[in-house]
Amino acid sequence: MTNIKLLFFLLMAILVSSSCKEDKKVTKEQKALLVIDMQNDFCNGGYDFCNGGSLQVGENPDRVIPLINEEIKSDKYGIVVFSKDWHPQDHVSFASNHSGHKVFETITLEDGTSQTLWPDHCVQDSVGAEFHKDLAVPEGSFVVKKGKNKLYDSYSAFQDNNAKEPTELLAYLKSKNIKEVTVVGLALDYCVYWTCKDAVKNKFKVSLLVKCTEAVAKNTGDDAIADMKKLGVNVVLN
Ligand SMILES: [Zn+2]
Repeated sequence: MTNIKLLFFLLMAILVSSSCKEDKKVTKEQKALLVIDMQNDFCNGGYDFCNGGSLQVGENPDRVIPLINEEIKSDKYGIVVFSKDWHPQDHVSFASNHSGHKVFETITLEDGTSQTLWPDHCVQDSVGAEFHKDLAVPEGSFVVKKGKNKLYDSYSAFQDNNAKEPTELLAYLKSKNIKEVTVVGLALDYCVYWTCKDAVKNKFKVSLLVKCTEAVAKNTGDDAIADMKKLGVNVVLN
C-alpha cells in the first residue's frame, strides 16, 4: 500500500471514530435530575411545629435545599424526578413494629434480609412524608413512591431492598429516553447510595453531587462514596 493510500485510510478511520463519539453524546433532554426523599421527616426545619423530623439526617440536612433548588431551576436537565419514602404504619423498617428491639438495631428478617430498624418515618399521607416546604417542586413533576409494601424496605428509588418489586422509576426514565442521571437528596449513605447503584446497574451514566447530599453518619457516607467511585459513578465533590 502506498503512503498516500495509508494516509487516506487513517483519515477515514479518524472521521468514522469521531462521528461515533458524536452519536454517543448525551443531550440535555436525555439527562434527568433525581431528587431523593427531601421529606420533612428527614429534614430539620420542615415542620412549623417542631425542631426536626423523626429521622433527621445529620446535623443540618436543610442546608442542601437551596443547592438542590439551584439544580432544579438550572437549564441542565430534560426532566426532574422526585422520590418519596412512603411507608404504611405497620412497615417492617419501624422499630416500633418489633417488640423487644430498639431503634438503629439491625435484625435479620425471615427471608434472610438484614434490616436496620428506624424510628417511624414518612408514614403515608402524614406531614412527615410531605416534601420540605422550601423544596422547589415544579407543578406536575413525576414523584415515585417507594417502601409501600409493609414487608420490604426500599432504599433505592428503583426497587425494594430484596429486588422483588420494582418501582415505576425505570419505566418512566426509559419512556423519556433518559441516558444520564444526576442524583441528589437524602440520605447519602442509604437511599442516595442505593439509587446510584441501581442506576449504574440499569446502564445509566450516573453523577452524584455530594454538596447536595447529607449522610446519616460520616463513616458510612465516606464508605458509600468510595464504593460509588469504584462502580464508575461520577462523584462531584463541589
Ligand atoms: Zn424509610
